[in-house]
Amino acid sequence: MGQPQFLAQRLRGLALSDIRRMSRESDRVGAINLGQGICDLPTPPEVAEAAKAAIDANKSTYTYPEGHLALRQAIARKLARDNGIQADPGSDIVVTLGATGAFATAVNALLDPGDGILLMEPYYGYHLNCSIVAGLEVQFMTLAPPDFHLTEESLRAALRPNTRAVVLCTPSNPSGKMLTRGELEAVARVAHERDLLIISDEIYEYIRYDGRPHISPAAVGGLGPRTITVMGLSKTFSITGWRLGYAVAPAPMARAIALVNDLYYVCAPNPLQHGVTAGFELPAAYFARLALDYQRKRDTLCDALKAAGMAPIVPQGAYYVLADISNWGFATAIEAAMALLERAKVASVPGSAFYRGTIGEKLLRFCFAKDDASLGEACERIRHFDPGAGLR
Ligand code: PLP
Repeated sequence: MGQPQFLAQRLRGLALSDIRRMSRESDRVGAINLGQGICDLPTPPEVAEAAKAAIDANKSTYTYPEGHLALRQAIARKLARDNGIQADPGSDIVVTLGATGAFATAVNALLDPGDGILLMEPYYGYHLNCSIVAGLEVQFMTLAPPDFHLTEESLRAALRPNTRAVVLCTPSNPSGKMLTRGELEAVARVAHERDLLIISDEIYEYIRYDGRPHISPAAVGGLGPRTITVMGLSKTFSITGWRLGYAVAPAPMARAIALVNDLYYVCAPNPLQHGVTAGFELPAAYFARLALDYQRKRDTLCDALKAAGMAPIVPQGAYYVLADISNWGFATAIEAAMALLERAKVASVPGSAFYRGTIGEKLLRFCFAKDDASLGEACERIRHFDPGAGLR
């Protein structure tokens, strides 16, 4: 898939998504898709029923650009309870079209073309591409496997005179790394010194393993006043196609985000806002079970990857595994991904989709947000995959 013919000049730097490409290839060969983080698990009935009831009650009009007040109030209660963030539902929360909408409206509302935005590699492709679309100068700092540790020194070294914002993603897609309090305090020291904005994508906040706590950057080291917290509901309620998320920021920044949200999208889908409002009333047991179910899937997949000679980097959170394929002997990650796809009928994503340099060439990413039967079948196929077969 090359660049579209009529792509505007300023968008020529877009890194076209290998994730989408692998999904298409997966459909072409009838594979099990462990590439894209589609998440086809069931939506909680309480969430689905509330959305259906809203449609039946003809709640079909536009809403405020910042979303329903009842939803923002539910979000504010949840932020205080689970994130240690005090947000005023009247002024600090904007309901958006997914976390993607929150990120895109935030960078467009708060940064100017030519401003520097720093991404941590391995990065999530949409952070890169949304930043390019907004005309930003994308800068990178590398977090190296297997522990993806962030240090104050490496952060300082990655900053440029025009850097205005740093993007954090915890738990991270694709690495599963969860930033520690110590790492976030280091970020806070640098952010205060250099007057940086923090854009913190926490869409996987409830998908975390081995009892590890999720720490929201806005609640650490006085970062709140300079942080835009980007949240999504796609993963929490298994509703990737509903397109609902939200941004949380101090009122002046939230107002700017709401303005851009209004200009681009008017508002998030009305009946679906009612659905997720009900979701915030789900008991703590729902969120605990979500994490435990994914932890079991993680362990199943990691066992299979090991059996196939890969070295999985066991994720702390999110629902992806990066696996080291150095032993397999392929020249590039895309070759390895295509061999696995064509011969074992399992789709993955080449690590080169998440790193600019060579680190990604020895990695594949697998997504385990799958029903148990499909994941089990994919694991069987992976276990029996012989990477050398096509090379002999
Ligand atoms: N942020 C991260 C880190 C993701 O991994 C994803 C989806 O995979 C998104 C955002 C997209 O979220 P949404 O569906 O809420 O737009």
